[in-house]
Amino acid sequence: MGNIVLLDENTINKIAAGEVVDRPSSIVKELVENSIDANAKNITVEIKNGGISYIKINDDGDGFRSDDVEIAFERHATSKIRQESDILKITSMGFRGEALASVAAISKVSLSTRHKDEDVGTKLVVEAGNIISNERTASNKGTSIYIKDIFYNTPARFKFLKKDYTEAGYVEDVIIRIALSNPHISFKYINNGKTIISTSGDNKLESAIYTIFGKEIYSNILNVDYSYKDIIVTGAVGLPQISRSTRNNEFTYINTRFVKDKILKSSIEKAYTEKLGINKFPFAIINVKINTETIDVNVHPAKLEVKFENEKDVFEAVYFAVKNALEINNREHSPFTIASKGEVQIEKQYVQAFQYNPINTGSNEEIIKANSNINDTQKEEENVFSNIDKNVNQFNENMVVEYTTETKIQPKEIYIKDEIQMYKSDEIIYNYIGQVFDTYIIIQIKDKMYIIDQHAAHERLLYEKFKDNFYSKTKETQMLMIPILIELKNNECEFVSNNLEYFENCGFILEAFSNNAYKISGVPNISDLDIDYKSMFLDIIDELMGSNKTEYKNKEFRFLATLACKAAVKGNMKLTKEENTKLVDEMLKLENPFTCPHGRPTAYEISKYEIERKFGRK
Ligand code: ADP
Ligand code: MG
Repeated sequence: MGNIVLLDENTINKIAAGEVVDRPSSIVKELVENSIDANAKNITVEIKNGGISYIKINDDGDGFRSDDVEIAFERHATSKIRQESDILKITSMGFRGEALASVAAISKVSLSTRHKDEDVGTKLVVEAGNIISNERTASNKGTSIYIKDIFYNTPARFKFLKKDYTEAGYVEDVIIRIALSNPHISFKYINNGKTIISTSGDNKLESAIYTIFGKEIYSNILNVDYSYKDIIVTGAVGLPQISRSTRNNEFTYINTRFVKDKILKSSIEKAYTEKLGINKFPFAIINVKINTETIDVNVHPAKLEVKFENEKDVFEAVYFAVKNALEINNREHSPFTIASKGEVQIEKQYVQAFQYNPINTGSNEEIIKANSNINDTQKEEENVFSNIDKNVNQFNENMVVEYTTETKIQPKEIYIKDEIQMYKSDEIIYNYIGQVFDTYIIIQIKDKMYIIDQHAAHERLLYEKFKDNFYSKTKETQMLMIPILIELKNNECEFVSNNLEYFENCGFILEAFSNNAYKISGVPNISDLDIDYKSMFLDIIDELMGSNKTEYKNKEFRFLATLACKAAVKGNMKLTKEENTKLVDEMLKLENPFTCPHGRPTAYEISKYEIERKFGRK
């Protein structure tokens, strides 16, 4: 007689349970998804001791029909599909009919439910897959499911459970993921009697983000809403300042199903290229709505992965969606708000200078005169600018006179001195205030003050220049009168020879000099500042050799970022007003002026309102 037998149904369910329910969080995931599939608007999850003592899930969804309750606990019992081809059109979270059977196989379950079209509810008790009782009861519309003694009959699995708080953390992660893709549902999560999460269900993603992540993140997110071919991408992405050093804040969904998908993650990250520092990852919640027939959701036991028919389209859709959100932000919500209505803005600034400058003792007549002058020049933006230039020249002359005659500076001149510091960088008009601590430049744009880190700003600027040089056919190279000779260690020499092309693309002219030395006869010609090219060269080697294995794909970026960092002015370096305004001018023309290539901010914004608040004026 042969040795092979067919396993009984209970054993099959227990084995299968291992695939879908390996810990409390996966039970919560399956059951909450069932509540969503049942059209619930309010879902409460309560657990005790990380879910190991019990899990209670309560929903106000459609409920089970009384004669469906028992069969729902059979393996492969589902109301969601009827035949294989339906899998292609699946819009529900579940479809395999495995979850209830799997959960019931390894725990004690008590379910109370009433279907929306029925008057009386049902209460079913199942233990280790065996139905203990089935009664009719009075019950609210919807379903409550109570699961206790998880894995009590599968000790091997029980042993794999982690500490209570770790399991509770996993449960929280599951609820966060689901809540973020279902802002129309109100979720409540209670752990050991304490409410941890409670979302409003007002159908606004921002509300869910606020509740889950708090104010800091909420105030630094941008809306994503983009369609590309047949794909719709929605969600929210964070400004670079809320990036993190892990991918924990990257949430990706396909048709609201949370997935861990490489294509989605890499397209999001690609869109952030140069906006984030090395090893920084964005905050992103991205949902891809795509025709169900072009994806396969049946490739992973917990449905955490999906296969796309056309990966490239998905990649591009997400990439453009995120990029677009970030760019619109650059244009519209730039901290350096573009003075699009230039003339009006200028008028205001002039008026304010007269009215609020405490040193100004000029008479009202003067104010009126000044205002009417401005009104005349308002007609065309160009006019206004040319007038400023004219005024600047005029004022300059005045000042020279004042200084040479050594008369004491009149209040009017002080005011004039303020005025000549109105600068224009493309469309952005700013007022140069000065430099503090030999490190920070202070400017004013409309009713905001900016403290700019001169090193970070310069670094970002040079990075862009090095990058242009890197990709352009004609290199900006400065030949050195006396070539620099650099002795290197063996592995350093090897690194240089393997990466010669990178150095050359950056504008270096190199030549192997002997076994362990290189001769540099040309260097990138990017900045007017005195740069120590030898140490720059060595820094690149250090920076890239230290990490080129893991970060190989970022090599170009690291090359350029290191060059920029080394070439940029440092903190604690006194710059002249001309140097400062030149830097600010160029900086304000950049597309990404907010962060240096390493992801640190280049400027800090303080609004007039904030200052007024500090002084108790508002
Ligand atoms: P699936 O979700 O793959 O269909 P499950 O084992 O998770 O399989 O659930 C089996 C069936 O039980 C579902 O198809 C659904 O009809 C019903 N069901 C499960 N949970 C709920 C719920 N909370 N409310 C209403 N019906 C439910
Ligand atoms: Mg299910």
